Amino acid sequence: MITTSFFELFKIGPGPSSSHTMGPMRAAAHFRQEIISFLRENNLKNNLKIKVELYGALAATGHGHGTHRAILAGLYGDEPAQVDIERLNHFFEKKEVTYSIPFEDMRISFKEEDIFFNYKSNPYWHPNSLKFVFLHQEHAILQAVFYSIGGGFIQKEGIEPKHQEEKKPKYGYQNMAELVAICEDKKRSVVQVLLENEMALNDCSKAEIYEKMEAVLQVMEDSVRRGLQSEGVLSGGLNVHRRAKAMYKNALKLEANKRYADALFARMNAYALATSEENAAGQLIVTAPTNGAAGIIPAAVAYLLNDCQIPRLTVKKGLLVAAMVGFIIKDNASISGAELGCQAEVGSAAAMAAALFSYAFGEQLSTIVTAAEIAMEHHLGMTCDPIKGLVQIPCIERNANGTIKAYNAYVLASGRQSKAVISFDQVVEVMRQTGEDLSAKYKETATGGLATSFGWGNMPGS
Ligand code: SF4
Repeated sequence: MITTSFFELFKIGPGPSSSHTMGPMRAAAHFRQEIISFLRENNLKNNLKIKVELYGALAATGHGHGTHRAILAGLYGDEPAQVDIERLNHFFEKKEVTYSIPFEDMRISFKEEDIFFNYKSNPYWHPNSLKFVFLHQEHAILQAVFYSIGGGFIQKEGIEPKHQEEKKPKYGYQNMAELVAICEDKKRSVVQVLLENEMALNDCSKAEIYEKMEAVLQVMEDSVRRGLQSEGVLSGGLNVHRRAKAMYKNALKLEANKRYADALFARMNAYALATSEENAAGQLIVTAPTNGAAGIIPAAVAYLLNDCQIPRLTVKKGLLVAAMVGFIIKDNASISGAELGCQAEVGSAAAMAAALFSYAFGEQLSTIVTAAEIAMEHHLGMTCDPIKGLVQIPCIERNANGTIKAYNAYVLASGRQSKAVISFDQVVEVMRQTGEDLSAKYKETATGGLATSFGWGNMPGS
């Protein structure tokens, strides 16, 4: 049964990666609490150290994604939504700096070399694994392994995900077919079902859910706004120029010249580039459902609110429907590029945005589901091969394309007279199988595809 809440899927936090930045930060913050509890019961003051080891895709592309900085922030007790972005992005600017991290009445020193990027082996089952060890006089006294399973979600080794938090939605469903059946049996709209689930999962009223959603919506809008005003070159050495501002200007010019179709594309591209560039710059965004794919849903939101004058409440309801698409993909396949390639990130975001567009334009549930299916179907097989392990090429443009594909999926579904041959649940299963068949080179390890073409080397050691 799906127990994920809207607010777990749409999390506020820093870029550039939900699995490589937000997840490790949350894991480190969790381990910090374990250290604090341990120290309360054991009177140890000196010769204490913390060591961290990263494995698999986390080791391969962790540098480019700022995983080391996120871990340090987490050890300081920062959580993604509250972290000081300026401070975070300056961590480890100088390799030799020693940080003195407060743990109640004492401090523990921590340096960049205390994080080991293990490029050679991963003893754990998940491609994004990280191990924390707390040592006294060089002996391990506490240890924990976490898996960063995509979208900023973490799972601690030895604890089943479902048992990590006891919570129950009002209406239990595992896939789209079951959700549609609930809506029909209970004579409830999909938004009513999702809203009542959120109220049960978050133990709050309908008004409080919409109020909490407002904060998420505002961060999405802010990321688009900031991105449209920013210029310059993104850091990381790829010489990637920000293009959102110029693209938006071009949209206005196209409109003035009555080239409305081109202008529509340019606008949506500009909105998607804006948030994706902000994400690449390590700024505050919303995982939607991940950071790598964080530009698509805010672009849809910006278009609906700014250009179509869709009421804010309708957009919030549409976001609930988009979240439902994300829940089903996450529970039955994955939203992680390290697990199933970019089809799981940008493909999932496009399917969610297609549902949002469809809901906002007044379509029935059957059309919403078909739009999500079309959007996912035409991202199948998409590899994750970020150059230098940075969330820039191909990620930023990929968000712009994902937005256009999501909109087109809505258009294709809305005019459809015949019943779809492939169901949404089937395409999710195909996405899972396709992702499992993908070579590890194409799952956020920067060891294949674009990442190693044209002279671009692999990340490890570079
Ligand atoms: S290629 Fe796709 S999945 Fe990989 S980091 Fe970029 S956006 Fe994420």
